[in-house]
Amino acid sequence: MSLILKRLSGCARRARGLLGGLAVALVIAAVPGSASADGLKVQDIRIGVHAGSTRFVVELNDSVAPRVFGLPDPFRIVIDLPEVDFELPEERIGDGAGLISKLRYGLFRPGTSRFVLDLETPSKVIKQFVLKPDGGKPWRLVLDLAPTTRADFITAMRPSAEDNPNPVTAVPVPSSPRQNVRPVIVVDAGHGGVDPGAIGVSGVYEKKIALDYAREIARMLKASGKYDVVMTRNRDIFLPLRERVRISRAAGADLFLSLHANTHPKRSTRGFSVYTLSDRASDKEAAALAALENKSDVIGGVNLGDYSDDVQNILIDFAQAKTNELSVKFARDILVGQVKTSASLLTRPWRSAGFAVLKAPDVPSVLVELGYISNPREERLLVAADHRRKLSAAIVQAVDTYFKTTQSAAL
Ligand SMILES: [Zn+2]
Repeated sequence: MSLILKRLSGCARRARGLLGGLAVALVIAAVPGSASADGLKVQDIRIGVHAGSTRFVVELNDSVAPRVFGLPDPFRIVIDLPEVDFELPEERIGDGAGLISKLRYGLFRPGTSRFVLDLETPSKVIKQFVLKPDGGKPWRLVLDLAPTTRADFITAMRPSAEDNPNPVTAVPVPSSPRQNVRPVIVVDAGHGGVDPGAIGVSGVYEKKIALDYAREIARMLKASGKYDVVMTRNRDIFLPLRERVRISRAAGADLFLSLHANTHPKRSTRGFSVYTLSDRASDKEAAALAALENKSDVIGGVNLGDYSDDVQNILIDFAQAKTNELSVKFARDILVGQVKTSASLLTRPWRSAGFAVLKAPDVPSVLVELGYISNPREERLLVAADHRRKLSAAIVQAVDTYFKTTQSAAL
């Protein structure tokens, strides 16, 4: 009994084969001798559900040697490949089948692309092999999963040191008080790579909207000539939350803007909102949003073992209190009023909760939810270039006002 999901029709497959061949020929002609990540491509993904096991198949244009390991709480299987292009006939991020409840893929860090399979129950890899091209089929990486116990999962699927499930690197934090010539703004595009963030009604990913706005805002800030601007990411790549905080601190940031788009079960919900850090959430929705945003590392397949407490326990200390005052000033007193003329606002547009990405004790930090991609009208607006320019300009105007008032207060 086997159910192979999402097979392509022969016709579509042939058309894709032709186009794929043409694209390869063009690339080779344009860049002679180019060996960028050896041009490795994932061409399709299939999940086969069998009695007692689930087969996960990745179709590729070449052979690969993957690293495969498991992470508990929640149970996940991570498959790391060299950096690949995902050239699937259709997006497959989302629901899985059989023992795989959800499936994600994308760039994890430079040189490494990753699949994350969320598991219904602890399940281990009982067979793993690579099949050579045969009968018109390309290279195939095949993994068979079968249910097991928690204890066996932890023993059998444990990552080795080389698997490096925790990509957080040490970024030196300046120890002396910073003396930036110009204010340093860190613009953080939420999510990325293997973490798509929320998925909109038409299928647009939060990670894409976040990056588009981050680029626009960074461009406008730089063009003003008043700021030094650092982007935490400028491509479709995963970044752990703690890494974002470290980048902000290492840059000696004067303001950290994290950009996101929200979803709500009620499609009519819409509007811009901004969040600051607090020990106690301002309301239930803000608490739920923080819990969701804080899940990014779990979604990306990061092993939280050694710092989950750090992400989950948000306790504002004395040093953070002053910083937090500035974050609130920017969010509540300036940004909301500025955006009001460019976009609709959520009811109570400034809220607070325990967002891990806002935890730098010495950098005023806000998390912006640009709007709701679960609302069809707002999703269309958020992907439109003119709205992006208008909303980004309002955010940049708010940054200007903030630095004008804080700098005159310091004189
Ligand atoms: Zn988000």
